[in-house]
Amino acid sequence: MPTYDYRCLDCRKRVSVYQTYEEYGNVLVTCTHCGSSDLKRVIGRIRFARSEESRLESLADPSDWGDFDEEDPRSMARMMRKMSQEMGEEMPPEFDEVVDRLEAGESPEDIEKSMPDLGGGGEDFVD
Ligand SMILES: [Zn+2]
Repeated sequence: MPTYDYRCLDCRKRVSVYQTYEEYGNVLVTCTHCGSSDLKRVIGRIRFARSEESRLESLADPSDWGDFDEEDPRSMARMMRKMSQEMGEEMPPEFDEVVDRLEAGESPEDIEKSMPDLGGGGEDFVD
């Protein structure tokens, strides 16, 4: 049975819920810590160049990321740095610039707008 990860907006704790595909989206999920139903879905999986490598698969396991928050640019920057380190590959200069700007708190949308080259190629870094 798949596990879905949520962040409780009331107590800020992370909640993992087992749900069937049928239940997902149809059954109200409540926080196991405080009982709140004010939960936000945490990103499940990042598509990164659609690689089949198992090493990347394990990197895409959200439980490795700690407190990853897809809506926090700094959190995203940390994750991107970690990914590039673990892959051990030379990243293009744009990558570093994007990560730096994410760390500075800029939103991915703003960065994309100011770097027209990024969107042109087709592949996005992050889903
Ligand atoms: Zn809670």
